[in-house]
Amino acid sequence: MRVAVISDIHANLHALEAVLGEIDREQPDELWCLGDLVGYGARPNECCRLVQERADLCLVGNHDLVALGTLGIEDFNPEAAEAARWTANALDDESRSFLSSLPPSAAPEHAQLFHASARDPIWEYVLTDEAATATLLLTTAPVVLVGHSHIALAVTLGTGLVEGGLAPGGTTKELEGRWLLNPGSVGQPRDGDPNAAWLLLDFEARFASFRRVAYPILETQRELREAGLPEALASRLAVGQ
Ligand code: ZN
Repeated sequence: MRVAVISDIHANLHALEAVLGEIDREQPDELWCLGDLVGYGARPNECCRLVQERADLCLVGNHDLVALGTLGIEDFNPEAAEAARWTANALDDESRSFLSSLPPSAAPEHAQLFHASARDPIWEYVLTDEAATATLLLTTAPVVLVGHSHIALAVTLGTGLVEGGLAPGGTTKELEGRWLLNPGSVGQPRDGDPNAAWLLLDFEARFASFRRVAYPILETQRELREAGLPEALASRLAVGQ
């Protein structure tokens, strides 16, 4: 089985369309999404609709839950909070009902999926060896997928120690042993590469391939500014931070 994995779309429709175009060329058997469909960006309903149509499995993320009002806004920085209030107001009934139906974790065949981590599926950032080890030890599937940090990662459990780290576009890993993988973010990358991120998994050939795709960043920035969303959310897209 071949699976395309996407995460952290953040209402960036142009990035999502570019990624789905690349995924269509690969014709995977399934598409999995690790959550944060909305928040930060200006096209939340269009992104919800596309993911609802296309994804075989979809998680909910902390930004989705804050926009729904299920989670409080107090842990957000001022820009994230302003964008969450904008998003809560912009979401239509169909998007609300879709997002409300989603779980924060899932366990399809071959894999375990969390928006954030196994210890805390909603909030914990897996960015340290300790956090990666904890999630690998709390799980048993050969492949564990997380999003949330917006940083593409590939970490494997060696002899008691985790090995691996950042997984820039073009990285391919052979899936021997157990792996913790973060595909990176479709709509707001933070690993220094502004291109939209996604991951192709092949469970038969046993590899993971980290992909990046260019998209019209200027269009997304124009929409953010027109919507009156914080300028910092538009400018960061150009640098992938
Ligand atoms: Zn996110």
